[in-house]
Amino acid sequence: MYDLTSFQEDLRQLYQDGAQVFDIGYTYLGRPIPCVFKGNPDGAQILIHASIHAREWVTTPLVLQMMKNYDGACGVWCVPMVNIDGVLLCQQGLSSISQSGLKEFLLDVNGNSTDFSLWKANARAVDLNVNYNALWGKGAQNVTYPAPANYIGQFPFSEPENVALRALTERVKPAVTLSYHARGNVIYKAFSCLDPNPDGAQLISNVTDYPLFDTYDSTGGYKDWYIATFQQLGLTIEVGDNDVPYDKLIDTLPAIYERNKNVLSTACKIIGE
Ligand SMILES: [Zn+2]
Repeated sequence: MYDLTSFQEDLRQLYQDGAQVFDIGYTYLGRPIPCVFKGNPDGAQILIHASIHAREWVTTPLVLQMMKNYDGACGVWCVPMVNIDGVLLCQQGLSSISQSGLKEFLLDVNGNSTDFSLWKANARAVDLNVNYNALWGKGAQNVTYPAPANYIGQFPFSEPENVALRALTERVKPAVTLSYHARGNVIYKAFSCLDPNPDGAQLISNVTDYPLFDTYDSTGGYKDWYIATFQQLGLTIEVGDNDVPYDKLIDTLPAIYERNKNVLSTACKIIGE
């Protein structure tokens, strides 16, 4: 298990080693959302984020390990756990929720099961990665009611976690963004008819040995919004083997890290620093 204590210990180590650690906003339940910064704030910038989907929490220790070992010239802004409420719900179930009305709501949305280990959404059952303003609501798997996954929310950017990540992105204007998800060992690039930097995408594919695919019938994600808004390289990187259960992916973290250890330095080269 990689729990909140492990997360806070990783943040503390990064801070002690000279990284900046600050909050970019608050989750629906009021938990602060940390961000880690390393590198040069004046040159080209990279934004990396993880755990926007709750059950994919293995991506948090992955990106933090990448940050610990990063010493390149680009500035790197890392939001290691966008969906903290969802991750805690996934790992701890309803004991992570204090409001009784919300407990009843989540139990109902989860089909009266107290097992939330496959939950993807945030704490009000919105799937954060279909809530961005990029062909919002047009994805093949979208649903329009609260659900463990795929609920688009009442309107684009209805969720505070996404408002915070949007504000950070608009402020630092990254030249590349890396969105970490699980599973599948693949990389998705491009959005709609926009494919801003196919050569850069190919370099990341080469260095990870993850095959590259164009995004197909999926909309409203962070990457989609970033590409549509900034027309620069945005990638969704899906780590981990499909036959490993989500809560066991952590046991394969060393192998996952091995494939991703050169991603930040390669991204920095792509954007010319
Ligand atoms: Zn995901």
